[in-house]
Amino acid sequence: MKSQIAAANWKMNLTLQQGETLLDEILAQPYQLNHNRLVVFAVPAPYLAMAQQKVAGKSHVFIAAQNCYSKKSGAYTGEISVEMLQSLGIKWVVLGHSERREYFQESDQFLAEKVNIVLEYNMTPIFCCGEPLQVREAGTQNNFVAKQLEASLYHLSAEQLQKVVIAYEPIWAIGTGKTATSEQAQEMHAHIRAELANKYGADVAKNVSILYGGSVKAANAAEIFGQPDVDGGLVGGASLIAKEFSTIINGLK
Ligand code: PGA
Repeated sequence: MKSQIAAANWKMNLTLQQGETLLDEILAQPYQLNHNRLVVFAVPAPYLAMAQQKVAGKSHVFIAAQNCYSKKSGAYTGEISVEMLQSLGIKWVVLGHSERREYFQESDQFLAEKVNIVLEYNMTPIFCCGEPLQVREAGTQNNFVAKQLEASLYHLSAEQLQKVVIAYEPIWAIGTGKTATSEQAQEMHAHIRAELANKYGADVAKNVSILYGGSVKAANAAEIFGQPDVDGGLVGGASLIAKEFSTIINGLK
Protein backbone atom coordinates (compact mmCIF):
# COMPACT_ATOMS: atom_id res chain seq x y z
CA MET A 1 0.00 0.00 0.00
CA LYS A 2 1.43 3.37 -0.88
CA SER A 3 1.90 6.05 1.76
CA GLN A 4 2.02 9.83 1.74
CA ILE A 5 5.47 10.79 2.98
CA ALA A 6 7.13 14.03 4.08
CA ALA A 7 10.86 13.30 3.97
CA ALA A 8 13.50 15.76 5.16
CA ASN A 9 16.93 15.63 3.55
CA TRP A 10 19.35 17.54 5.76
CA LYS A 11 22.25 16.83 3.38
CA MET A 12 25.61 17.95 4.87
CA ASN A 13 24.14 20.61 7.13
CA LEU A 14 23.81 21.39 10.85
CA THR A 15 25.89 20.57 13.91
CA LEU A 16 24.77 17.82 16.25
CA GLN A 17 23.31 20.41 18.62
CA GLN A 18 21.47 22.22 15.83
CA GLY A 19 20.11 18.92 14.60
CA GLU A 20 18.85 18.00 18.06
CA THR A 21 17.12 21.37 18.45
CA LEU A 22 15.56 21.14 15.00
CA LEU A 23 14.17 17.65 15.65
CA ASP A 24 12.87 18.71 19.08
CA GLU A 25 11.07 21.70 17.57
CA ILE A 26 9.52 19.75 14.71
CA LEU A 27 8.50 16.78 16.85
CA ALA A 28 6.90 19.05 19.46
CA GLN A 29 4.13 19.93 17.00
CA PRO A 30 1.01 17.77 16.63
CA TYR A 31 0.55 15.93 13.31
CA GLN A 32 -2.11 13.64 11.97
CA LEU A 33 0.06 10.66 11.09
CA ASN A 34 -0.94 7.08 10.46
CA HIS A 35 0.45 4.09 8.59
CA ASN A 36 -0.34 5.84 5.30
CA ARG A 37 0.95 9.25 6.34
CA LEU A 38 4.59 9.18 7.39
CA VAL A 39 7.46 11.49 8.25
CA VAL A 40 11.09 10.61 7.53
CA PHE A 41 14.25 12.51 8.48
CA ALA A 42 17.35 11.71 6.41
CA VAL A 43 20.09 12.99 8.69
CA PRO A 44 23.90 12.97 8.38
CA ALA A 45 25.44 9.64 9.39
CA PRO A 46 27.03 10.88 12.65
CA TYR A 47 23.58 11.95 13.88
CA LEU A 48 21.68 8.75 13.08
CA ALA A 49 21.87 7.37 16.63
CA MET A 50 20.80 10.67 18.18
CA ALA A 51 17.92 11.05 15.74
CA GLN A 52 16.82 7.45 16.15
CA GLN A 53 16.63 8.00 19.91
CA LYS A 54 14.54 11.15 19.48
CA VAL A 55 11.88 9.34 17.45
CA ALA A 56 11.86 6.19 19.60
CA GLY A 57 8.30 5.48 20.63
CA LYS A 58 6.87 7.91 18.07
CA SER A 59 4.68 6.13 15.57
CA HIS A 60 4.97 6.80 11.86
CA VAL A 61 8.16 8.88 12.19
CA PHE A 62 11.35 7.34 10.82
CA ILE A 63 15.02 8.16 10.47
CA ALA A 64 16.82 7.52 7.20
CA ALA A 65 20.46 7.33 6.22
CA GLN A 66 21.39 9.51 3.24
CA ASN A 67 23.44 6.75 1.65
CA CYS A 68 24.91 3.31 2.33
CA TYR A 69 27.40 0.97 0.71
CA SER A 70 26.54 -2.02 -1.46
CA LYS A 71 28.63 -4.56 0.52
CA LYS A 72 27.78 -6.29 3.78
CA SER A 73 31.01 -5.56 5.65
CA GLY A 74 34.75 -5.55 5.21
CA ALA A 75 37.70 -3.39 4.27
CA TYR A 76 35.84 -0.35 2.91
CA THR A 77 37.22 2.51 4.96
CA GLY A 78 34.75 5.31 5.51
CA GLU A 79 31.70 3.46 4.21
CA ILE A 80 28.47 2.61 6.04
CA SER A 81 26.81 -0.80 5.72
CA VAL A 82 23.15 -1.69 5.95
CA GLU A 83 24.02 -3.98 8.87
CA MET A 84 25.36 -0.97 10.75
CA LEU A 85 22.18 0.96 9.98
CA GLN A 86 20.05 -1.98 11.01
CA SER A 87 21.92 -2.27 14.30
CA LEU A 88 20.87 1.33 15.04
CA GLY A 89 17.25 0.53 14.21
CA ILE A 90 17.33 2.54 10.98
CA LYS A 91 14.87 1.25 8.37
CA TRP A 92 15.12 3.80 5.55
CA VAL A 93 17.95 4.80 3.19
CA VAL A 94 18.04 7.51 0.51
CA LEU A 95 19.79 6.17 -2.60
CA GLY A 96 20.95 7.78 -5.81
CA HIS A 97 20.42 11.41 -4.92
CA SER A 98 21.59 13.52 -7.85
CA GLU A 99 24.37 14.93 -5.66
CA ARG A 100 25.68 11.38 -5.10
CA ARG A 101 25.37 10.61 -8.81
CA GLU A 102 27.13 13.82 -9.83
CA TYR A 103 29.83 14.43 -7.19
CA PHE A 104 30.57 10.82 -6.27
CA GLN A 105 30.03 9.20 -9.66
CA GLU A 106 27.37 6.77 -8.46
CA SER A 107 26.28 4.81 -11.52
CA ASP A 108 22.94 3.15 -12.30
CA GLN A 109 24.56 -0.25 -11.81
CA PHE A 110 26.08 0.68 -8.43
CA LEU A 111 22.68 1.99 -7.33
CA ALA A 112 21.01 -1.24 -8.43
CA GLU A 113 23.39 -3.08 -6.08
CA LYS A 114 22.58 -0.69 -3.24
CA VAL A 115 18.84 -1.12 -3.83
CA ASN A 116 19.34 -4.89 -3.62
CA ILE A 117 21.15 -4.89 -0.32
CA VAL A 118 18.74 -2.41 1.27
CA LEU A 119 15.79 -4.61 0.28
CA GLU A 120 17.63 -7.75 1.40
CA TYR A 121 17.74 -6.24 4.90
CA ASN A 122 14.05 -5.36 4.78
CA MET A 123 14.74 -1.67 4.72
CA THR A 124 13.05 0.93 2.53
CA PRO A 125 15.08 2.64 -0.20
CA ILE A 126 14.06 6.13 -1.26
CA PHE A 127 15.35 5.88 -4.81
CA CYS A 128 16.01 9.27 -6.42
CA CYS A 129 15.75 10.01 -10.11
CA GLY A 130 15.42 13.16 -12.18
CA GLU A 131 16.78 14.97 -15.21
CA PRO A 132 19.31 17.81 -15.57
CA LEU A 133 18.33 21.15 -17.10
CA GLN A 134 19.63 20.42 -20.61
CA VAL A 135 17.50 17.28 -20.80
CA ARG A 136 14.42 19.22 -19.68
CA GLU A 137 15.17 21.92 -22.25
CA ALA A 138 15.49 19.28 -24.96
CA GLY A 139 12.12 17.87 -23.89
CA THR A 140 13.49 14.34 -23.39
CA GLN A 141 12.97 14.12 -19.62
CA ASN A 142 10.42 11.29 -19.77
CA ASN A 143 12.82 9.03 -21.60
CA PHE A 144 15.72 10.03 -19.33
CA VAL A 145 13.85 9.18 -16.13
CA ALA A 146 12.43 5.96 -17.60
CA LYS A 147 16.00 4.84 -18.34
CA GLN A 148 17.11 5.58 -14.76
CA LEU A 149 14.26 3.45 -13.41
CA GLU A 150 14.96 0.65 -15.84
CA ALA A 151 18.68 0.58 -15.10
CA SER A 152 18.45 0.47 -11.29
CA LEU A 153 15.02 -1.01 -10.48
CA TYR A 154 13.63 -3.22 -13.22
CA HIS A 155 15.57 -6.30 -12.17
CA LEU A 156 13.37 -6.34 -9.02
CA SER A 157 10.37 -8.60 -8.60
CA ALA A 158 6.93 -6.98 -8.35
CA GLU A 159 6.92 -7.72 -4.63
CA GLN A 160 10.29 -6.01 -4.17
CA LEU A 161 9.38 -3.02 -6.31
CA GLN A 162 6.42 -2.22 -4.08
CA LYS A 163 8.85 -1.75 -1.19
CA VAL A 164 10.72 0.99 -3.03
CA VAL A 165 9.83 4.65 -2.59
CA ILE A 166 10.69 6.72 -5.65
CA ALA A 167 11.66 10.39 -5.37
CA TYR A 168 11.47 12.40 -8.58
CA GLU A 169 13.85 15.32 -8.24
CA PRO A 170 14.46 17.40 -11.36
CA ILE A 171 18.05 18.57 -10.90
CA TRP A 172 17.26 22.05 -12.17
CA ALA A 173 14.82 22.50 -9.27
CA ILE A 174 17.11 21.31 -6.45
CA GLY A 175 18.31 24.10 -4.19
CA THR A 176 17.61 26.64 -6.91
CA GLY A 177 14.35 28.04 -5.64
CA LYS A 178 12.98 27.04 -9.06
CA THR A 179 10.23 24.54 -8.29
CA ALA A 180 8.63 22.46 -10.97
CA THR A 181 5.05 23.62 -11.33
CA SER A 182 2.50 21.26 -9.84
CA GLU A 183 1.51 20.41 -13.44
CA GLN A 184 5.10 19.52 -14.34
CA ALA A 185 5.38 17.38 -11.21
CA GLN A 186 2.10 15.62 -11.89
CA GLU A 187 3.01 15.02 -15.53
CA MET A 188 6.29 13.32 -14.63
CA HIS A 189 4.79 11.38 -11.71
CA ALA A 190 2.02 10.08 -13.96
CA HIS A 191 4.67 9.11 -16.51
CA ILE A 192 6.69 7.25 -13.84
CA ARG A 193 3.57 5.42 -12.69
CA ALA A 194 2.67 4.54 -16.27
CA GLU A 195 6.18 3.18 -16.84
CA LEU A 196 5.90 1.06 -13.68
CA ALA A 197 2.46 -0.13 -14.80
CA ASN A 198 3.87 -1.07 -18.16
CA LYS A 199 6.55 -3.20 -16.58
CA TYR A 200 4.76 -4.54 -13.48
CA GLY A 201 1.05 -3.95 -14.05
CA ALA A 202 -1.27 -1.21 -12.81
CA ASP A 203 -1.96 -2.87 -9.46
CA VAL A 204 1.73 -2.82 -8.57
CA ALA A 205 2.26 0.72 -9.88
CA LYS A 206 -0.51 2.18 -7.77
CA ASN A 207 1.16 0.81 -4.63
CA VAL A 208 4.40 2.72 -5.15
CA SER A 209 4.86 6.03 -3.35
CA ILE A 210 6.35 8.66 -5.67
CA LEU A 211 7.70 11.75 -3.90
CA TYR A 212 8.53 15.08 -5.52
CA GLY A 213 11.74 16.91 -4.59
CA GLY A 214 13.14 20.26 -5.65
CA SER A 215 12.54 23.52 -3.80
CA VAL A 216 9.50 22.27 -1.91
CA LYS A 217 8.62 24.77 0.80
CA ALA A 218 5.76 25.57 3.15
CA ALA A 219 4.17 27.86 0.56
CA ASN A 220 3.97 25.28 -2.25
CA ALA A 221 3.90 21.87 -0.52
CA ALA A 222 0.14 21.38 -0.22
CA GLU A 223 -0.45 22.26 -3.87
CA ILE A 224 2.26 19.93 -5.16
CA PHE A 225 1.31 17.11 -2.77
CA GLY A 226 -2.31 17.57 -3.82
CA GLN A 227 -1.59 16.27 -7.33
CA PRO A 228 -3.04 12.80 -7.86
CA ASP A 229 0.27 11.03 -8.54
CA VAL A 230 2.39 12.98 -6.02
CA ASP A 231 2.65 11.14 -2.72
CA GLY A 232 4.58 13.71 -0.70
CA GLY A 233 8.06 15.15 -0.99
CA LEU A 234 11.76 14.92 -0.35
CA VAL A 235 12.71 18.31 1.05
CA GLY A 236 16.18 19.81 1.38
CA GLY A 237 16.54 23.49 2.30
CA ALA A 238 13.08 23.96 3.81
CA SER A 239 13.53 20.91 6.04
CA LEU A 240 16.20 22.81 8.00
CA ILE A 241 13.64 25.30 9.31
CA ALA A 242 11.26 23.86 11.91
CA LYS A 243 8.22 25.95 11.02
CA GLU A 244 8.66 25.31 7.30
CA PHE A 245 8.94 21.56 7.66
CA SER A 246 6.04 21.34 10.13
CA THR A 247 3.84 23.12 7.58
CA ILE A 248 5.12 20.80 4.85
CA ILE A 249 4.17 17.75 6.94
CA ASN A 250 0.69 19.20 7.37
CA GLY A 251 0.50 19.66 3.59
CA LEU A 252 0.39 15.90 3.02
CA LYS A 253 -2.91 14.74 1.60
P1 PGA B 1 15.80 21.32 -2.02
O1 PGA B 1 16.51 19.87 -2.11
O2 PGA B 1 14.49 21.10 -1.34
O3 PGA B 1 16.76 22.15 -1.21
O4 PGA B 1 15.63 21.80 -3.41
C1 PGA B 1 15.75 18.72 -2.37
C2 PGA B 1 16.65 17.53 -2.41
O5 PGA B 1 17.75 17.62 -3.00
O6 PGA B 1 16.33 16.46 -1.86
